[in-house]
Amino acid sequence: MDKVISSDPRAVAVDDIIAAGRRMDRFGWVPATAGNISRRLPDGLIAITRSGGHKGMLTPHGVIEVTMDGAPVHAGDRPSAETLLHCQIYAAFPRTGAVLHGHSVASTVLSMLAGDALVLSGYEVLKVFEGQKTHDASLRLPVFDNDQDIARLARAVAPHLADMPMGYVIRGHGVYVWGDDMDMALARLEGLEFLLACELEKRKIRA
Ligand SMILES: [Zn+2]
Repeated sequence: MDKVISSDPRAVAVDDIIAAGRRMDRFGWVPATAGNISRRLPDGLIAITRSGGHKGMLTPHGVIEVTMDGAPVHAGDRPSAETLLHCQIYAAFPRTGAVLHGHSVASTVLSMLAGDALVLSGYEVLKVFEGQKTHDASLRLPVFDNDQDIARLARAVAPHLADMPMGYVIRGHGVYVWGDDMDMALARLEGLEFLLACELEKRKIRA
């Protein structure tokens, strides 16, 4: 879908989120009602996907506004429990404008086999991540145990946020990736998912 040309930041954010959902769905990263997608708004609020619903078939109704504490702006709107993880990223990184969360096969499977991190090295695509000038490097992708208590999960993530060049993974669940704007967040997600898919293929061949 072509982007709607609009000067209304809310309309632009909603359009970005709908387009991101379709792109993530094309790759199979948001099965069933999985995943959530958000954008920071200029007034400090956050536009984020409503709980439930397929992220590949979003309409403007599927996007709600929450405060930086994750509370819905409009009574009756139900944000996903994972909204708090988006808020945490926006609070930690003032330049971050978009956060993506998906449930890919590669991130789900590899994180179930990993310890507290997945180390990715030798891949050309590593250069998509900030500060990486060469493929000849190793990047560490932290893995956190899944937890339905999202506030507790956020507390586990917090001490490591400053050292996550690629984002992070929740074990058996999916990835969190962010960027200054939606294009950057999507590029980083695509880069990370490419690396995880390669890693999964490598392990299959070795097995
Ligand atoms: Zn999830």
